[in-house]
Amino acid sequence: MQGLMMQMPLMISALLTHAEKNHADTEIVSRTVEGDIHRYTYRDMGRRSRQLANALKHLKVKPGDRVATIAWNGYRHMELYYAVSGSGAIIHTINPRLFPEQLLYIINHAEDGIIFFDLTFTPLIEKIAAQCPKVRAWVAMTDHSHLPPARIENLLCYEDLLDAEKDDYVWPEFDENTAACLCYTSGTTGNPKGVLYSHRSTALHAMAVCMPDVFNMSARSVVLPVVPMFHVNAWGIPYAAPLIGAKLVFPGPALDGASIYQLMEQEKVNYSAGVPTVWLGLLNHLKQHNLKFSTLQYTVIGGSAAPPAMIQSFQEDYGVRVLHAWGMTEMSPLGTLNTPKEKHLSMSKEELFKLSLNQGRTFFGLDLKIVDDDGKSLPRDGQSAGHLLVRGQWVIHDYYKSDGGSPLKDGWFPTGDMATIDPDGYLQITDRSKDVIKSGGEWISSIDLENVAMAHPAVAEAGVIGVHHPKWEERPLLVVVKRAGQDVTREELLKFYEGRIAKWQIPDDVAFVNELPHTATGKISKLQLRQQFKDYQLPG
Ligand code: ADP
Repeated sequence: MQGLMMQMPLMISALLTHAEKNHADTEIVSRTVEGDIHRYTYRDMGRRSRQLANALKHLKVKPGDRVATIAWNGYRHMELYYAVSGSGAIIHTINPRLFPEQLLYIINHAEDGIIFFDLTFTPLIEKIAAQCPKVRAWVAMTDHSHLPPARIENLLCYEDLLDAEKDDYVWPEFDENTAACLCYTSGTTGNPKGVLYSHRSTALHAMAVCMPDVFNMSARSVVLPVVPMFHVNAWGIPYAAPLIGAKLVFPGPALDGASIYQLMEQEKVNYSAGVPTVWLGLLNHLKQHNLKFSTLQYTVIGGSAAPPAMIQSFQEDYGVRVLHAWGMTEMSPLGTLNTPKEKHLSMSKEELFKLSLNQGRTFFGLDLKIVDDDGKSLPRDGQSAGHLLVRGQWVIHDYYKSDGGSPLKDGWFPTGDMATIDPDGYLQITDRSKDVIKSGGEWISSIDLENVAMAHPAVAEAGVIGVHHPKWEERPLLVVVKRAGQDVTREELLKFYEGRIAKWQIPDDVAFVNELPHTATGKISKLQLRQQFKDYQLPG
C-alpha cells in the first residue's frame, strides 16, 4: 500500500520562493567590486532573479545548458544561483584562482555557453576569451556606467539585461533529480573533474546543514560566508540561508582581515564560515589592533584541519564558538561537524575542549565507514585508522561525463582521507592518504605535526611533508612561516614537540620560508611543497 501524501519535487527555486513569502524584508548586504555597500531584501532578490530568468530565456539558454560564473560572493552571484538552476539550466561556478590553463580546461570541458564575470576578472577574460569557442556571450556583472572598455567579443552588461525584462517569470517544476550546479575538484593530480549536483541533493543538503547539530543557522542568524561561492557553493550557505530566512552579508572581493572585521561589526554578523587560512588573517588583524568582536558567536572552520591553537584563540580570546567541519566537493560538501552530546556536558572545560578538536559526527542522510587496505571494515574504537568511505543523499556516484569511470567501491565513495571513528561516531581525520608520512612502516600524521607547530607563539603558518630518507623511507620536514616580528630557532621548535607527540614522530628538520604555497581553495599545497623540497637533504 502506498502512502497518501503529496509528491512535491525538491526544487532549488522553491527555496527562494519560500524566503520571498516568509522572509520578504530580511536583508542581503553585499560589498561590491566597485567598493560600495549594496543592500536589498529577499523580496528584491526574488523579483530580480525572475527578471534574470527571463533574460536567460531571451539569451536562448535551454534546460541542461551550462552557464558559468567567475565571481565573488555578492547579490548578483546569488541571483544567478537561482535564475540559472531555477530555470532548469546548470550553474557552473568557476574558481578564478585556478591557473589560466585549468580555467580553460574546465570552461571547455563543461561546454559553458555563457559566462558571467565580476569586473575584477576583466583582464583574465580578455586573455582567455578567444580560446573558449563554445562561449557565445560574456556578461559583465555590473551596470552600464561601469562597463569596461574591454576587448571582449560578445560582451553584455548584467544590469542592461535585467532592465529589459519583466519579473513575470514562473519557476518551472521538473524532475528533482535534474542537474542544477557543477563544481570542479581542484585536480591536484591530473585534470579537474566535474561534480554535478541535482536539485534534490542540493535541497536535502541545505535542509541538513541547518540542523542544530550541523550549522545551526536560523532566522536569527546574520551570516557572512567568507568561503567563496566558487568553493563548493560556499558550503551550501546560499541555499541554506533562504531556507531558514537568515540575513546574508557578502564580502565581495575584500577578504583581508581588516575588511572582514569592519563588515562583521557594521552588519552585526553573528555567524561566519571559512577555511583556516582566512581566519589566520582575521585573527592577526584583531591581535595587532587589540580588537574584539561585538556580535560574532559562531564560525564554521573546514576545508582543512582547524589547528587547535586557532580553535582555542577564537573561543578563549574572542568568545566565538568554532564549529569544526569536514567535507569535500564530492559530498556537496558537508560530511561531519563537531558539537558535543548531552552526556558530554558534565565534562571539565579541558575535556570538552579536547572533544571539540576533531572533525565531529555525521548526521542523517550520510553514512561513514573506515576500512583497511583490503577493504575490510575497521572497528569504531577511536584507535583503528583506515580509509574513510562515505555514502549518502548528497554524495557523488559518478563524475561529470563519467571522467575516470565509476569512483565507487561496493556502493561507497572513497574519500582519499585516513581517519579514525570513535564509539560515539566522532571522526578524526588523520591525514589525506597521499600526505601521510610513511616512516619505517609506520604512519605519521602531517596534520598532528602541523597542529603542534601552530601552537607555538612564533609560528604564523606550518606545513609538514615527508622527504626521502635512506633508512626510514620518509621522515617529516616541518616548513614554517614565522609570525611578523617574532623569532624562533630550529632547535627551539623541535624541542617544542617533546612531550606533545611520540618521540619518533618529531620532525627531523625545520625549514623557514617567507610564504607557503596555497591551492586555489586556500589550503597549503602539499604537492607544491613536496616539489619545492624534493631534493632536500635531512641532517645526519
Ligand atoms: P580540494 O581542496 O581538493 O579542491 P575539497 O575542497 O573537496 O577539494 O577538499 C576536500 C578535502 O579537504 C578532504 O578530503 C580533506 O582531505 C580535506 N578537509 C576538509 N575539511 C577538513 C578538516 N576539517 N580537517 C581535515 N581535512 C579536511
